Amino acid sequence: MRAFEVKQDRCRVCLKCMQVCPIHAVELQDGAVRVEDSRCVNCGLCYQHCPHGAIDWEDQTGMVREFIRAGRKVIFSFDPAIYGLLPEGVLMEQMAAAVKKLGACGAADASEAAAAVASEYGRLIRERHSENFILTHCPVVRNLVEQHWPELLEDLIPVTSPMIAHGRMLKRDVPNAAVVYVTVCAACTLEMRDVRHSTEINAVLTWPQLQAWLRAEGIAPAARFPAECWSCSGITRTPGRTAVWPHRG
Ligand code: SF4
Ligand code: SF4
Repeated sequence: MRAFEVKQDRCRVCLKCMQVCPIHAVELQDGAVRVEDSRCVNCGLCYQHCPHGAIDWEDQTGMVREFIRAGRKVIFSFDPAIYGLLPEGVLMEQMAAAVKKLGACGAADASEAAAAVASEYGRLIRERHSENFILTHCPVVRNLVEQHWPELLEDLIPVTSPMIAHGRMLKRDVPNAAVVYVTVCAACTLEMRDVRHSTEINAVLTWPQLQAWLRAEGIAPAARFPAECWSCSGITRTPGRTAVWPHRG
């Protein structure tokens, strides 16, 4: 599985992607550049370095639009890293109002899931007797170990990622919701589909994809954008568990 794909009509076969790929997952076959699924760990280096914009990553915006059109309750779960990318003066409450304009019923902060995951890491490390362990929820590092260094699998601490944990939290509150994770990492698109936890998250949007959708709808969160006090219909706010914006009361 991979999130990145070479668009043959744009590719100039300059082989820059082949040079930067750290695990030799880019191949030249019959004059065409391709990414080998079984080797690719979805690190995104080829995407970053392609000088011709010939590498695309999967865009699930259409899928989210369809959830909304079909009348499903859609909840946006925001990766804590998004805090660092907000335009100057924009608050998460304003982003929550912005996604409501897109048709979402709720927005929630995945920080709380990240805290729960960190606490579980702490518990497992305290109970662990081996000297070595790999502590990460990064899907790229996990892919690297699972696909290329299986001998290190026993050192990989078996805790789910904040994204998956947050999907579980939100679906406990709103069982039929479609949870859309907004992230900075394209590899989450593949993590979402992993058969070990393929029902927790229904779609992944990267921050640029969400911004593009908002721009297309003429929605521009900025310093003066309203941070309206909107009801996240159906989400039971459990203090200390799931933070939902904006905070009411
Ligand atoms: S870097 Fe881009 S243009 Fe060059 S070979 Fe790779 S995909 Fe094609
Ligand atoms: S995403 Fe990373 S691992 Fe996959 S082909 Fe591109 S550079 Fe290689």
